[in-house]
Amino acid sequence: MVAAHPDDEVLGFGGTTALLAASGVRLRVVSITAGEASHPHSHTPVARHLAAVRDRELHQALGRLGAASAQRVALAVPDGKVARHERELAGHLTALLRDCDLCVAPYRRDLHPDHEAAGRAALAAGAARGVPVWEYPIWTWHWASPDDGRLPWHRAARIALTPAAHTRKRAALESFHSQIEPLGSGPGDEAILPPAELAHFRRDFEVIWR
Ligand SMILES: [Zn+2]
Repeated sequence: MVAAHPDDEVLGFGGTTALLAASGVRLRVVSITAGEASHPHSHTPVARHLAAVRDRELHQALGRLGAASAQRVALAVPDGKVARHERELAGHLTALLRDCDLCVAPYRRDLHPDHEAAGRAALAAGAARGVPVWEYPIWTWHWASPDDGRLPWHRAARIALTPAAHTRKRAALESFHSQIEPLGSGPGDEAILPPAELAHFRRDFEVIWR
């Protein structure tokens, strides 16, 4: 499971992660960046420690998904600059896919530069290893509508969540305090995922492109 920022994988694929974990599938979670730049204009002190905060949030979220035993890998690529490190990143991901049957990664046309670079690098790594790559949308839910001709709906698959997996995912989403609540009360502290955005990810199904 490849994420550009620590929460992408839970937003886009957390319910399926819960299903896989409950089935005993071994999981490896790769955080390309630490998500340290989510609030670049904040003057709240915690904004300087977002890498550690977001690491703890992901740890808690994976526990709530029943995936506490997932292996975690942090590549520490600078947040916001994944595209500049894309070739090197593809090399790291190729190595990490050595013992994998499937790779999931952000959608290559998500209209977020880090998500797109993460998706492209994962697709390159998957091609090099002969490992299938499923892409999960995140920002796409914000800008696209179901009749949007830019989206490859013919490749889409809908994964229905069991009630248990759905409950686990909604609980896991609540772990990301630094993203779903304002960081402080000043300008630049606004929530990245206010309720209207979070609603896309609280549904009882997930969609991937394959
Ligand atoms: Zn992200």
